[in-house]
Amino acid sequence: MTGNAARLQAIKDVEAYVPPAVSFSLDEAPGAIFGENVFNRVVMQKRLPKSVYKSVVATIEHGATLDPAVADAVASAMKDWALEKGATHYAHVFYPLTGLTAEKHDSFLEPVGDGTALAEFAGKTLVQGEPDASSFPNGGLRNTFEARGYTGWDVTSPAYVLENPNGNTLCIPTVFVSMTGEALDHKTPLLRSQQAMGEHAERVLRLFGHDDVNHVVSFCGPEQEYFLVDRHFFLARPDLMNAGRTLFGAKPPKGQEFDDHYFGAIPERVLGFMMDTERELFKLGIPAKTRHNEVAPGQFEIAPMFERGNIAADHQQLLMTTFKSIAKKHGMECLFHEKPFAGVNGSGKHVNFSLGNSELGSLFVPGDNPHDNAQFLVFCAAVIRAVHLYGGLLRASVASASNDHRLGANEAPPAIISIFLGDQLADIFEQIARGPATSSKGRGTMTIGVDTLPVLPTDPGDRNRTSPFAFTGNRFEFRAPGSLQTVAAPMVTINTIMADSLDYVATTLEAAVAEGVDFDSAVQTLLTEIITEHGAVVFNGNGYGDEWPIEAEKRGLKNLKTTLDALPELITDEALALFEKYGVFTHREMHSRYEIGLEQYVLAIGVEARLTQEIGQTVILPAAVRHQTEIATNIAALKAAGMTDVDLAPLDGISAPVAALRSALATLGDALTADAGHDALAEAEHARDALLPAMLAVRGAADELETIVADDLWPLPTYQELLFVL
Ligand code: ADP
Ligand code: MG
Repeated sequence: MTGNAARLQAIKDVEAYVPPAVSFSLDEAPGAIFGENVFNRVVMQKRLPKSVYKSVVATIEHGATLDPAVADAVASAMKDWALEKGATHYAHVFYPLTGLTAEKHDSFLEPVGDGTALAEFAGKTLVQGEPDASSFPNGGLRNTFEARGYTGWDVTSPAYVLENPNGNTLCIPTVFVSMTGEALDHKTPLLRSQQAMGEHAERVLRLFGHDDVNHVVSFCGPEQEYFLVDRHFFLARPDLMNAGRTLFGAKPPKGQEFDDHYFGAIPERVLGFMMDTERELFKLGIPAKTRHNEVAPGQFEIAPMFERGNIAADHQQLLMTTFKSIAKKHGMECLFHEKPFAGVNGSGKHVNFSLGNSELGSLFVPGDNPHDNAQFLVFCAAVIRAVHLYGGLLRASVASASNDHRLGANEAPPAIISIFLGDQLADIFEQIARGPATSSKGRGTMTIGVDTLPVLPTDPGDRNRTSPFAFTGNRFEFRAPGSLQTVAAPMVTINTIMADSLDYVATTLEAAVAEGVDFDSAVQTLLTEIITEHGAVVFNGNGYGDEWPIEAEKRGLKNLKTTLDALPELITDEALALFEKYGVFTHREMHSRYEIGLEQYVLAIGVEARLTQEIGQTVILPAAVRHQTEIATNIAALKAAGMTDVDLAPLDGISAPVAALRSALATLGDALTADAGHDALAEAEHARDALLPAMLAVRGAADELETIVADDLWPLPTYQELLFVL
C-alpha cells in the first residue's frame, strides 16, 4: 500500500496502537544488571590466571604489546564465559568508513573429525580475523586483487555478549585494516591518535613535575540527539525510510516556537522506550546517564557518562543500534539524521572532550592550587592554538551531506570554527595577551608566577550554545558533529591537533628550561605568545548573528559552508604533514578518506534526488492532479447546471503549483541524467550545484500543494502527524 491509502491506514493504525510496557520488572534494583554482558576487568580478574590478568591490564593501561600466550588464555576464558551467557557465535565487530558498524559472525563449533564438533576459540582467532570485506569503501587503498581486509582485537575495549531472540553473540571490538596495514576504519586512527596525544601530554606533565605520570588518554562524553516518530507514519514515508529525512513536508501550523517540549515532561510512551534502551545499555556496560526532551517536538537527547575515547566511540555505535531496534519494539522509529524535518531544529552529537588519566582526572579542571592553574592554562592554550591552526580540519572531520543541513545553514552551530572560553577564562587570556595577568575577575590579583595564582572556580559561569567549541568547566564541548556520525572522526582530529600543540608546548618549554630560563617565566612567555598568535579564534559572542561571518572573515577564520568546501582541508600539504608526523594517517590514507568523503556525499545526494523525483512524480503529482480534476469537474458541473459566474480561481490556484511541480520535476530529471563528469569531485559538485537546488525546487512546489490539496487526498503523513503524535 502506498500514497494516500497508506497515510489513511497509518492514521487508523496509530489510533488503535497500544504501546508495550517495559520489558523488565520495575522491582529490579537499578545497577543490578550493569555490565552483566561485558567481559570486563572484574570478570577477567575472576577467570584469568593472575599473571595473564596483569599482562592484559598492562596492555590496557600502558599500551604494552600483548603476548600471544596471553591471547590464548584470554580467548579460552572469554569463550567459556560467552557460552555460559548463551552465545553460539562470535563476531569481530569493526567500524568501516560507511560510518556504520560491521560484524561477521562465526560459530564456535568446529568439527573434530569423528562426526562431532567442539566449541573452539583460540588466541589467534581472538586476535585476528579476515572478513571478506571487499565491498567496504577504501578510497583506492585496495585493488580487487588484494581485496582482503584484516580485523585485529582492540584489547582496550571490552568484549561483550549481544543478546538476540535468535541467539546470542560474543562481540569483539576490532580494528579493520588492509593487507598492507592501512586503516580502513575509524578505530585504527583513533587508537593511533590517542597514542600520539598521550605521548606529548605526558611530556608537558613531566615539565610540571609529574615525573611518574600515568598514561594520558582522551575522554569523550557524547550527547546524542534524536527524533522518534510513530512507525506507522514512518512506513508511509518512503523518503524517511530510504534517506532518513523528509524530502517533502509543509511547516505545521504549530512549530517549535512554543518551547513547550524542551525539557518538558517526557511522554509516557517515550519513557517506556528510554527505560528499555537504558537497561540494554546498562547490560552492555554503557553508562547512560541523562535523558531529556530536546528543543524540537519529537526530539530527545541521551548523554552517557564520558569514557576513554575509543570505548566511548564503540559504545556510541552500540547505543545507536540499540536505540533503533528498541524503538521498533515500541512502535516507533528512531531518526539519527541531522535534519529529518525542514524548518525544525536538527540533531547533533556533541563531543565533550578532555585529556587526563586515572590519577589526575581531567587536565582541563582549573584545580585547587595555583600550580595546577598554570598547568591548566597551558593545556587550554594548547587547545586554543590547535583549534586556531586546524579549524578547517575540525570542520572537515564532521563534513557530510546530511550535516551540511546544520552547519552553514543558519543553524547550530555555524560552520565557522571558533572557541568560547566563558567570561572568566577569556578575561584571563586577554590579560595574558597584554602581559602577565594581574587579576582574575572579582578575585584579586594574580600573575602566572605560580606562587600568586588564585584558585579558579570549576564552574564556567555561563554557557554559550552557539559556539562550536566551548569550554564547559572541566572539558571542551565540540558541538559541530552530526547526530548520525561516529564520534571517532572528530576525536581523531582533536587528538591529532592536540598532539601537535602539546608537542609544540613541550618542545618550547623544554628548550627554555635547557637554556636556564626560569620555568614560570617560560610558561608566561609561552602563554602570551600563544594567545597573541591564536587569540583570533576566541569568540564569546553570538555565533548565529549576521555580523559574525563578517567579523570571522576579518579575523581570517574559515567559513567552510558545505562538505565540498571542507573536504579539501584533508589533503592540504599542511594536513598531510601533520597526520603523517604523528603517525595517524599516511598520505595515502588521507587521500583515501578524502575520496570516500566525496563518494559518500555523491551517494547520499544521489539517493535523495532519485527519491525526490520518484515521490514527486508518482505520489504527489497524482494527488494534486486528482484534486485539480475534482475542481475542474465541479466547475464543469456548475456550468452545465447553468451557473454563469462560476469562480475559476480555485482551478488556477491548483493549476499553477501543479505546473510548477511538473516543470521542477523535469529540471530535476535533466539534472539526474546529465553527464556529471567522471571523477568524484566533479560528481560531488554536480550533486551540490545541480541536484540539491533542483530537489529544493520540487519540494517548494510540492509543499505549496500540501497547503492546497484536500487533506483526504494528501498522500504523505504530514509534519503534524510525524512530529506531534507520540
Ligand atoms: P550539557 O547538556 O549541559 O552539555 P549533559 O549532561 O547533557 O550536559 O552532557 C555532558 C556530557 O559531558 C556527558 O556525557 C558527560 O559525561 C560529559 N563529561 C563530563 N565531564 C567530562 C570530562 N571531563 N571529559 C569528557 N566528557 C565529560
Ligand atoms: Mg546536553
